Amino acid sequence: MKKRTGVLKLAACLDCAQSRRQMAKAFISKSKYLAGLQCAKLLWTHYNARQLLPAPDASTQAIFDQGHVVGELAQSLYPGGVEVTMDRGIDQTIKDTQALLQARKPIFEGSLNYGGVYARADVLNPVAGGKWDIIEVKSSTSVKDVNVADLAVQRYCYEGAGLKIRRCYLMHINRDYVRKGDIDASKLLIAEDVTGIVDERMQEVASEITAMQRTIAKKACPAVDIGPHCSDPYDCPMTSLCWAHVQKHERNVFTLPRIGGKAWDLYKTGVIANSEIPSAFSLGSNQAIQVEAERTETRHVEPVNIAEFLGGLKFPLYLLDFETFQAAIPMLENSKPYQQLPFQFSLHVAADMKAKPKHHAWLWDGDGDPRQLMLAELKRLIGPRGSIVSYNAVFEKGIMKTAVESVKSMKPWLKKINSRVVDLLVPFRKFWVYDPSQLGSASMKVVLPALTGKSYSDMEISDGGMASREFLRVMFTDVDPEERRRVRSDLEAYCGLDTLGMLDILQALSSMAGRRPR
Ligand code: SF4
Repeated sequence: MKKRTGVLKLAACLDCAQSRRQMAKAFISKSKYLAGLQCAKLLWTHYNARQLLPAPDASTQAIFDQGHVVGELAQSLYPGGVEVTMDRGIDQTIKDTQALLQARKPIFEGSLNYGGVYARADVLNPVAGGKWDIIEVKSSTSVKDVNVADLAVQRYCYEGAGLKIRRCYLMHINRDYVRKGDIDASKLLIAEDVTGIVDERMQEVASEITAMQRTIAKKACPAVDIGPHCSDPYDCPMTSLCWAHVQKHERNVFTLPRIGGKAWDLYKTGVIANSEIPSAFSLGSNQAIQVEAERTETRHVEPVNIAEFLGGLKFPLYLLDFETFQAAIPMLENSKPYQQLPFQFSLHVAADMKAKPKHHAWLWDGDGDPRQLMLAELKRLIGPRGSIVSYNAVFEKGIMKTAVESVKSMKPWLKKINSRVVDLLVPFRKFWVYDPSQLGSASMKVVLPALTGKSYSDMEISDGGMASREFLRVMFTDVDPEERRRVRSDLEAYCGLDTLGMLDILQALSSMAGRRPR
């Protein structure tokens, strides 16, 4: 929930603290405490080999940025609040906080230390009896165990430093909030009182901190093997290093569909590559198909099922794909937090398999409600007959369903076309086709190259997350008009490949089934 610059400055200051830690106990901030709970190796690396930790990627940074925006909105609920900035380093934040505590005003990022722990809560709110409430703000929609641990270590620190804490709150997004006019922060954000579970959790903090300080002081990195903890509660930034011995086997047990804990059973017995899985090991049918396809380097094909799937298609085909964005703070009237909102579609219309498909593209220009504009355009383009084909159609159907809620008059039309939607993911999710190059994935990003040789790799925009980030960047931040034009053109190329690619996949399926769709 920290400002990006604040995080960087905090990191720099902690590096300074690091040089002092041989003489004194290491400072453990709440983020390092949470890292330590996840993995001792990760904690040790933060303090002793920081250069091994990669900078956040674009997707992670976008999450941080969103958290920052939510944090600022939460501050508006505490009028008269004062923020403690990191401009002059950690020691100064503590002095500034101590001065502000006397004023009995809400304090944002109030910073204190105790027993080697450095707490910096989103909000310290003064309440009766000279006490304070701690409010931690998250952009998630519910309270998680990791949030309770976060609050527990802060309460431990503040109380150790002499503050009287009354209650602890986790303030998160209300997923049922519907925007009507200006954002109402008091309704969008819910402050859940988690004092009871924080109190229970706090009993473990002192011993955990002692253990973490011992870990940090070790000369050598603790030997911790990979495990489910690598992605729980967060995806660890050290994954590419720690998982290198797994990832050197492209075809590894973690790529098998729905393998879950069985992958760890295999890993514990030293089996990483799919080719090493003992024949006696019990695999599900799709897992067995993948392993066999990889062993024989042969594509698995079930022509009868494919033919039946293709037989259900009706021409003309409407090959449809949406791109969407979502935000914790709803950007549009009558929309909810994290609602997927369409900003683009590509539609290829194929009269038959021989004719060149006709392409239609729509890309929101930022004016009006994109849901209404999109639905109107689709209604104009989609005729009364023919299958509407999408890849992972649950998503496209869901987008249309929620879009119609803001344009009720379109409900009858949507009802009619819904029954015409066909999901092209089905033959791949059901393993009627499996190519050894898919590496366990049924994503169109791997199926298209596997079946047709076409690829997204040389596209400027190569996945949906990037498409969404780039759209929001060029449409709602101050960028050069030429760059905006270029990105919009890249977006059209990306979305267009998705729908044209679906036709290519259908043609490949047709030849596998020895038939063409009617
Ligand atoms: S990738 Fe896993 S083992 Fe490596 S530091 Fe992260 S959590 Fe620990």
